[in-house]
Amino acid sequence: MLASHYHINTLKEAPSEAEVASHQLMTRAGMIRRIAGGIYTYMPLGLKVLRKIENIVREEMDKAGALELLMPVVQPAELWQETGRWDEYGAELLRIKDRHQRDFVLQPTSEEVVTDIVRNEIHSWRQLPVNFYHIQTKFRDERRPRFGLMRGREFTMKDAYSFDRDEISAQKSYDIMYDAYTRIFERLGLRFRAVAADTGAIGGSRSHEFQVIADTGEDEIVYNPDTDYAANIELAEAPCLIAERQAPTAQLEKIATPDATKCELVAEQLKRPLCDTVKAVVLATDPIDDKGKPQIWLLLVRGDHEVNEVKVSKLPGFENGYRLASEEEIQDHFGCVPGYLGPVGLSDTVTVIADRTVAHMSDFICGANEAGFHYTGVNWGRDVAEPQVADLRNVVAGDPDPTGTGTLAIQRGIEVGHVFFLGDTYSKKLQATYLDKEGKPQLIQMGCYGIGISRIAAAAIEQNHDDKGMIWPRAIAPFEVVICALNWAKSEAVQTASMQLYEQLKAQGIDVILDDRDVRPGVMFADWELIGVPVRVTVGDRGLKENMLEIQQRARGENEKIQTSEALSYIT
Ligand code: ATP
Ligand code: MG
Ligand code: MG
Ligand code: MG
Repeated sequence: MLASHYHINTLKEAPSEAEVASHQLMTRAGMIRRIAGGIYTYMPLGLKVLRKIENIVREEMDKAGALELLMPVVQPAELWQETGRWDEYGAELLRIKDRHQRDFVLQPTSEEVVTDIVRNEIHSWRQLPVNFYHIQTKFRDERRPRFGLMRGREFTMKDAYSFDRDEISAQKSYDIMYDAYTRIFERLGLRFRAVAADTGAIGGSRSHEFQVIADTGEDEIVYNPDTDYAANIELAEAPCLIAERQAPTAQLEKIATPDATKCELVAEQLKRPLCDTVKAVVLATDPIDDKGKPQIWLLLVRGDHEVNEVKVSKLPGFENGYRLASEEEIQDHFGCVPGYLGPVGLSDTVTVIADRTVAHMSDFICGANEAGFHYTGVNWGRDVAEPQVADLRNVVAGDPDPTGTGTLAIQRGIEVGHVFFLGDTYSKKLQATYLDKEGKPQLIQMGCYGIGISRIAAAAIEQNHDDKGMIWPRAIAPFEVVICALNWAKSEAVQTASMQLYEQLKAQGIDVILDDRDVRPGVMFADWELIGVPVRVTVGDRGLKENMLEIQQRARGENEKIQTSEALSYIT
């Protein structure tokens, strides 16, 4: 590729709405152009990066035995009504009508369509397991599309769906995908971490997110540097952790100790305005209930807000339900005006959704009664048994026999992949069954696995850039090498030497561009530093007189002089 024939249109300034480096730099480098909020054209330079990411993802998916197909972007409402998600999905689901006033959606994900395919295609145990995937445009009408490709409304995702005969085999399919994802992110050349995660709107019981580590990430990850424990804070969030965010590394032992100062600190932290969704993790358990399950009581006392909804989502292995108690029952028991009261399981995540900003989370009391329940440590203020901050290790380690000690650290991440074990959630609703060896119909066990192709491009930049521009990992750089031919138009020596190197590199399969534009060297260098090509070779008359070229590795910055004859082996 000759740069004079390519479309290079770099900008000095980033658009004012671009808040993060990837958005600023991709726009300045001319990789993306905004057409509407959260909707972008991938320009040739940007599309090249996406295709390289796609290829790595596709190769590893194929190696893992998944089969590529391509499902439509426009999907009929009936399928979404069958699973109930037509009503449940909310405003992120873009609904459209055709000329006959029939309802359709622009797909945000494809569980419905793929399960419909499978219920029609798969009849016998002999056809399972199978894993179908596609790389396709998604549309989610995000409440706050922002950060360019990081949170677009239209974006590209690889989504895969596994179908198995039984749970054991479905868990194996999950593990295969988990391993494939690990290989994918290694090959992409990114620093990442797989973390235990919430299953959210997709449903299911086991899930991991793949997070690219970057300070600008929207997610917070809690991990133990000494073990392989890592979780999205959405899952592990606890008042103690919120307090510890100031000091990113905390001794678990210390958090676990009931300690008045710490509790005050917790309460103080929680007084800062939070969002209108408050989350708490139930940290403590009472003695076993009459059905043999561990449970605690959660009491939410109304403050100056209306509580609209309390959702309890579960960690794998905790099956307890949640119920609302009558106001009288609560008043009798606790002597205060209740919001909600009910038993929830140890380690459940409780999300409280209030109708406006909840200024003080300490309005909520996660409490206990005289039977010896423990507290989360916030503003209990009642004459009950000695309050205790429960042992955080129960939660963070997710370990039924919480024994070890260690440190907890927090870092920010960008969610680039997500794997879910779904079980029969969708197959039950859509009646996707197969006949087992005895000829009996059985529900198919499912898993689903997403990778944000376009978000990865942005995440790679968030993780790798400097004040001059992007620094691409070689595997996904728009070009691996740029040859800057100085004074191309006038110097035959430069033309010959740069063309020769260019042809040699191409013959080696290296993705190279030759910059033959008639621009000043400073402009040329600034463009390629902005675009972030990993290796730059400068060919100029002065160097050629001594048979020398200049090579710069974008990540390191310094220039090195190298013999013309050694250039090829140096680069490849
Ligand atoms: P988020 O928490 O960031 O909203 P999600 O959990 O809703 O993401 P999933 O449903 O798990 O996303 O989708 C799989 C993958 O698709 C995500 O891991 C992410 O990489 C990508 N993705 C999701 N939403 C967007 C978006 N708005 N823009 C770009 N990529 C996205
Ligand atoms: Mg989302
Ligand atoms: Mg998420
Ligand atoms: Mg997710």
